[in-house]
Amino acid sequence: MEGCIFCKIARGEIPSAKVYEDERVLAFRDIDPKAPAHALIVPKAHFASVLEADAGTVGALFEAAKEVAKALGVAESGFRLVVNTGRDGGQSVEHLHVHLLGGRALAWPPG
Ligand code: 5GP
Ligand code: ZN
Repeated sequence: MEGCIFCKIARGEIPSAKVYEDERVLAFRDIDPKAPAHALIVPKAHFASVLEADAGTVGALFEAAKEVAKALGVAESGFRLVVNTGRDGGQSVEHLHVHLLGGRALAWPPG
């Protein structure tokens, strides 16, 4: 979608530190990491949020998350997947993305 920052990253128009890629999905490091390991896993196709996404896309993101966890070395130590959605969910980029956070013990519950 025109003007969408994650679409531009998916098209290679904005550089990113790629950690995983397949036909449908790209994962790259968050520019402002909240944990030692923090990647964003995004569909290459534009969906504003999980509310718009089909089951195949959601499944592809979670399959990719397993590979990202391995690539970042946190599959054994553990990690968290987060999908911020809408205003109260704290979503700031309106292109569906799954945060993968790990590399330290994460607090729960979130604030
Ligand atoms: P949200 O707040 O929507 O759940 O997450 C958006 C995330 O995108 C934030 O953690 C933010 O740091 C990250 N982000 C925003 N712009 C860019 C960018 O241009 N490049 C990368 N790698 N991450 C970005
Ligand atoms: Zn987009």
